[in-house]
Amino acid sequence: MNKSILFILLPLLFLSSSINAQLQQEKRAFTEQDTLRGSITPERAWWDLNYYHLDIEIQPDEKYIAGKNTIRYRVLESQQVLQVDLQPPLKIEKVTQDGLPLSVKSNGNAHFVTLIKQQKAGDFNEVVVHYSGNPKEAIRAPWDGGFSWKRDDNGKHFVATSCQGLGASVWWPNKDHMYDEVDSMLISVKVPRGLTNVANGRLRKLDTVTNTSHWFVSNPINNYGVNVNIADYVHFGEKYNGEKGILDMDYWVLRDDLEKAKEHFKDAPKMMAAFEHWFGPYPFYEDSFKLVQVPYLGMEHQSSITYGNQWKKGYLGKDLSGTGWGLKFDFLLIHESGHEWFANNITYTDIADMWVHEGFTSYSENLFLDYHYGKEASEAYVQGLRQNIKNDRPVIGTYNVNSEGSGDMYYKGSNLLHTIRQLVNDDEKWRQVLRGLNKDFYHQTVTTAQIENYIAKKTNLKLDKFFDQYLRTTMIPILEYTIDGKKLKYRYTNVVDGLHMPIRVFMNDKAVWINPTTAWKRAAKYQRDATFEVDSNFYIDVKEI
Ligand SMILES: [Zn+2]
Repeated sequence: MNKSILFILLPLLFLSSSINAQLQQEKRAFTEQDTLRGSITPERAWWDLNYYHLDIEIQPDEKYIAGKNTIRYRVLESQQVLQVDLQPPLKIEKVTQDGLPLSVKSNGNAHFVTLIKQQKAGDFNEVVVHYSGNPKEAIRAPWDGGFSWKRDDNGKHFVATSCQGLGASVWWPNKDHMYDEVDSMLISVKVPRGLTNVANGRLRKLDTVTNTSHWFVSNPINNYGVNVNIADYVHFGEKYNGEKGILDMDYWVLRDDLEKAKEHFKDAPKMMAAFEHWFGPYPFYEDSFKLVQVPYLGMEHQSSITYGNQWKKGYLGKDLSGTGWGLKFDFLLIHESGHEWFANNITYTDIADMWVHEGFTSYSENLFLDYHYGKEASEAYVQGLRQNIKNDRPVIGTYNVNSEGSGDMYYKGSNLLHTIRQLVNDDEKWRQVLRGLNKDFYHQTVTTAQIENYIAKKTNLKLDKFFDQYLRTTMIPILEYTIDGKKLKYRYTNVVDGLHMPIRVFMNDKAVWINPTTAWKRAAKYQRDATFEVDSNFYIDVKEI
């Protein structure tokens, strides 16, 4: 572009970017460590994860962990320096390849390993990372995670890990970026006698001499989905007849809570029925489904959903929707299990797009109600959740620096999806879109753009500005209207340029679609003195002026 054109264009660009149209960006200072953690660095990009064998011993008395992770990878492009992540105070003791020790240069949480062996494209190689130390203790699990070293009522150790956002490198060495999921994983954990370790996937072997359990995950898994849980556990289970056949559903709870759990976990098969209906088959039949009791609220650990909602309905006994419907189910059990489809099956590539996990999973709560209690219950619930929306920051965060967007990703996310359901205006079609997402992005990491484009394509709706509006600004569309005798006029304000969002309104209780823009329009179908109401299922504000 030559200078004179730029000179003419700049003022135009400035004019067209009115405040309303500006897509808001979060402004925060990010560090070099944020970039090393949050981007696909050159030292990550050249190799593709294939297999982890995490092999550790955990000593709860000393709050100590030691062992190694074997990282098998395929060489995509010949390079000699490989990045592994591990957070202090844990220390890397040595890194080897084919038994030979390698040199490691550390920069905070990122460790750069220089390989001796020539790395040839297509080859499968392994590095073994030995490490030990006292890992970061969780301050407020699962949000400010790490290790939770707790005790049960009998004084026995009750230990669990949680690390979303913070990163799995807080407790084990790995490639700590979401874009590359390992294809399978073996988790071997030695714990003191009298305690049981439950991790992801299936128990392949228990070595009773050393009390080492070997849990195998046969499907791709993201880093924060990996967990270990150590307690005086007892086990019960059931067989669920699901869409892909018989699914093993297993429950691991504290010895004293067995009877409570047997009653309370009756929500689990109800959850499975609702979510298989709306989202398609549970994505990890091979690895089974588990609920594992933990000393914190809960987390969506893949095939090992952790649970700590104190055997209460709602969210620790509270109804987040304020409608009463939120007390019909155990919020944590339903919500964290919903993540098996949106978080574990379909996973964000960058945490800036975390709404793909939380928006859809928050939305799953009302689909659970829809399945078991009907559409009115689900509509009341999702609308009730709006009271929690702050519109403080955009839902989408900043890319490549491990930065998530606003907490609105939950309730605003569910409400924008509920609004799309209205726009589709065909529940079966909408259900097929949700099932299609889980089929077409099966076991994949995705960007929000992929999800947005997919929904637009499958619904045949023009949604680009719609997603910009709800995900990239904090503005909620306002429908302004005015009635003057037999004239009803309406328009949108507080919208991004070009927003296309028809809405359903009621005139004398008769449903009518109108298509507001920022220009005043007259409702052709309005008759003198008719009542006028906007369908509250659309997440917009309405103002009579
Ligand atoms: Zn969640």
